Amino acid sequence: MKALPILIVGSMAFDDLEFPRPVRDAAGGCVHSRFEDVIGGSATYAAYAASCYAPVRVVAVVGDDFPEATLEHMRSRRVDTQGVERVSGKTFRWVGRYHADMVGRDSLATELNVFADFRPKIPESYRDSRYILLGNIHPALQLEVLDQVREPELVVADSMNFWIEREREALGRLLKRIDVLVINDEEARLLAGEHNVSLAAAEILRMGPKSVVVKRGEYGALYYDAEGVFAAPALPLHEVVDPTGAGDSFAGGMLGYVAERRRTDHAAMRRALVNATAAASYCVEAVGTRGVQDRSRHELAERVGRILALYRVDP
Ligand code: AMP
Repeated sequence: MKALPILIVGSMAFDDLEFPRPVRDAAGGCVHSRFEDVIGGSATYAAYAASCYAPVRVVAVVGDDFPEATLEHMRSRRVDTQGVERVSGKTFRWVGRYHADMVGRDSLATELNVFADFRPKIPESYRDSRYILLGNIHPALQLEVLDQVREPELVVADSMNFWIEREREALGRLLKRIDVLVINDEEARLLAGEHNVSLAAAEILRMGPKSVVVKRGEYGALYYDAEGVFAAPALPLHEVVDPTGAGDSFAGGMLGYVAERRRTDHAAMRRALVNATAAASYCVEAVGTRGVQDRSRHELAERVGRILALYRVDP
């Protein structure tokens, strides 16, 4: 069965990254602890991960400083960039500094630039998309995307504490129209007002989505729906070079798998979660998108095998 295209809406960005200790640069050569103008953004990471499984359509905005070579590379990976608007001005920039544990991080600056006036316009040729990934943008804009697609079959949305704290009402409306919410454990607690993650997930399901994925960084992810809970452990790695984009690669890998198989039942979602974990593990192995941008479907399958082996036990 042919994989169906995925529509991804989100940010495309330049990231300036600071690490607590020197890490290998993207080419694996010299080591630095600061990197500037790294290509990033939620849509970029998610598109690269998803494209290992299915064709991708991206809707985003970039300024005139964003390299055409990156868009070309994305097109070479079956990512349709027709929906990437190029407008005059500077591309969105995020400046992040990682803590000593390489998990916690501070956003030192979020320069919206051309992203400030972003109103997602879904090209006519994308409106039949059945698998939709709403990257972490204002929930009102995520809703605008849903108003422009005809017959979505599975809508996955990412969000973050910023919107949970400031845009509850719009987020509440969004939750009623999506199938899967992907958030981390702190965000789940904040959204539900409940410390226990399982109780928080149950509360979030009452808010509307059919399922919720709670990401727990190096501890993996939990998937909750009406049929129960599934746990996908993260692949233990010797070295985490750059965790930026792991969450977006996770979401892209998850929906990529769904679009490839064209199945959204509980069993398929379990397998999608393991594929999501595989995509995220590749992402963190290099600075920026380098870890995920050139992966093959075969490499993802190989890593899924390694993850499944983590919890194989004799009967
Ligand atoms: P993740 O590590 O999965 O949370 O994703 C990090 C990516 O999200 C970076 O490449 C940033 O450019 C992008 N990003 C950071 N903050 C925002 C924001 N407020 N809105 C949209 N994208 C963002």
